[in-house]
Amino acid sequence: MSKEVNAPLKIVILGGGTAGWMAANLFVKKWSSKKVQVSLVESPNVGIIGVGEGSTPTLQRFFEMIDVKESQWMPRCNATYKVNIRFDGWSPRSGINSYSHPFTSQVDTFTSRPFTVNCRTRRLGLATHTQPEDFFLNGLLAKQGKSPIAPANFPFKMEYGYHFDSHLLGDFLAELAIERGVTRHIEHIVAVKRKDSGDIASIQTKHGAVIEGDFFVDCSGFASVLMQKTLGVNFKSYQDNLFNDSAIVMPTPMDGIIPVETVSTALSSGWCWKIPLKNRFGNGYVYSADFISPDQAETELRTHLQCLNSHIEAKHLNIKVGRLDTQWSHNCMGLGLSQGFIEPLEATALHLVQVSIELFIERFEAGNFSNKHRDEYNTNMAESFDRVRDYIVAHYKLNTRDDSDYWRANRENTHLSDSLRHLLDVWFKRGDLNDEIERQKISSHFNSASWHCLLAGYGAFPPLADNQPGTGDLYQEKFVHQLLQGCALNFSSYNTEL
Ligand SMILES: Cc1cc2nc3c(=O)[nH]c(=O)nc-3n(C[C@H](O)[C@H](O)[C@H](O)COP(=O)(O)OP(=O)(O)OC[C@H]3O[C@@H](n4cnc5c(N)ncnc54)[C@H](O)[C@@H]3O)c2cc1C
Repeated sequence: MSKEVNAPLKIVILGGGTAGWMAANLFVKKWSSKKVQVSLVESPNVGIIGVGEGSTPTLQRFFEMIDVKESQWMPRCNATYKVNIRFDGWSPRSGINSYSHPFTSQVDTFTSRPFTVNCRTRRLGLATHTQPEDFFLNGLLAKQGKSPIAPANFPFKMEYGYHFDSHLLGDFLAELAIERGVTRHIEHIVAVKRKDSGDIASIQTKHGAVIEGDFFVDCSGFASVLMQKTLGVNFKSYQDNLFNDSAIVMPTPMDGIIPVETVSTALSSGWCWKIPLKNRFGNGYVYSADFISPDQAETELRTHLQCLNSHIEAKHLNIKVGRLDTQWSHNCMGLGLSQGFIEPLEATALHLVQVSIELFIERFEAGNFSNKHRDEYNTNMAESFDRVRDYIVAHYKLNTRDDSDYWRANRENTHLSDSLRHLLDVWFKRGDLNDEIERQKISSHFNSASWHCLLAGYGAFPPLADNQPGTGDLYQEKFVHQLLQGCALNFSSYNTEL
């Protein structure tokens, strides 16, 4: 990238979905004092995807980084707190009909060890308690319907995510970014001009205007206008081990107290999310069209939601799972759906957007706003996508449903990465899973507690041994129970910020 000395660096973001506006806010906040101009172009004809209503705790960090308080954004976006994902009906044959994956907080340091010890004991064939949600404070808060906001004297930091209306979040972030200096163009892009080096020189609008830039961020959603269509970057599909390629989305009314968890219920050919917002539930069936038709899927979703004959409109979407081979190519980075998508089972898409922007900012600055650290960035992001994908694949691999070909095909699927294969091997051979996670250096994607929740939650254990020595671990269980119950007394059951 060659530039005139002292000319401002022009960053052009193509796409005004959540990914585009998140990037715009972080860039303008981070580089406001430097000579960086940020502009964002969004089409008046192509809407945003408008789903993506659950987050991981990483979104807390996003708002901290852009100096926005919960009281400023949550009421505007009908947002609620999220402490947990509950999985219903994924493993009936193991005898576990429901388990939760809570976000782990500081206080869980005292209780996650008894959990992993119990899991190990159970892997040896001895009966112990291994229901994940009983070992984590957020698991208990979810059961009691309490918000994760601790009183001032509570000595531990709580981790939690959010549920929100993605259209309202987009509006909020757009307003903020524009207020802070981002230029917005509402124009449809029809052509892209490249330099001899292959770099992108400018993008051209339907009305003939030309928008030049030094660096481009492709946030154009599944269309991937710059990365795939212009630069020809290869898309690596995950369809071999993630079969879902379609979704149906529909809201239902909020009834009663707002829960603090997302519920993911296994259906015949995929699963359905239920996300509580302040004013409604967001629901969606993610499924594979190889196993069920869109009409059948809609009927199944409506039956599941008990609104078979209602007039609530259902929106059908195609989804494309996989990632770009190279996420930063020439002077352009893919971000959001244009960089790749792993299905939303653990609500990791915006988490990956955030991680990508943070790493990009760090590497771009380290190379003095050049492409110097591009390869490092690409290796890192490819690894992040693949390891998050593995965690999702494990859900399908370990299912014990027998009610449809879909679930049997998922269980029998042998397309597993080496990383996932080793993890499962260590677990089933009764090895030390913590050591394996450390050895593979993958705990920044899903840590040991998360892997234990998943494997114990599916009841992935050998049969119980004939001789059971007694109840040696009851003392620990009592301690965990009392500690968490005591902590939970401090929390209130009001699940919104005002
Ligand atoms: C079924 C489903 C469920 C999901 N659930 C979750 C979840 O629970 N949690 C989570 O974190 N994520 C979830 N996601 C992912 C999440 O929705 C996206 O990561 C997020 O919305 C960001 O999308 P985006 O900004 O990349 O793309 P989009 O929202 O699709 O935005 C694309 C933008 O590009 C613009 N554009 C496209 N072409 C042109 C053009 N030629 N000229 C000008 N502008 C153009 C459009 O106008 C639009 O502004 C889910 C996704 C799906 C499909």
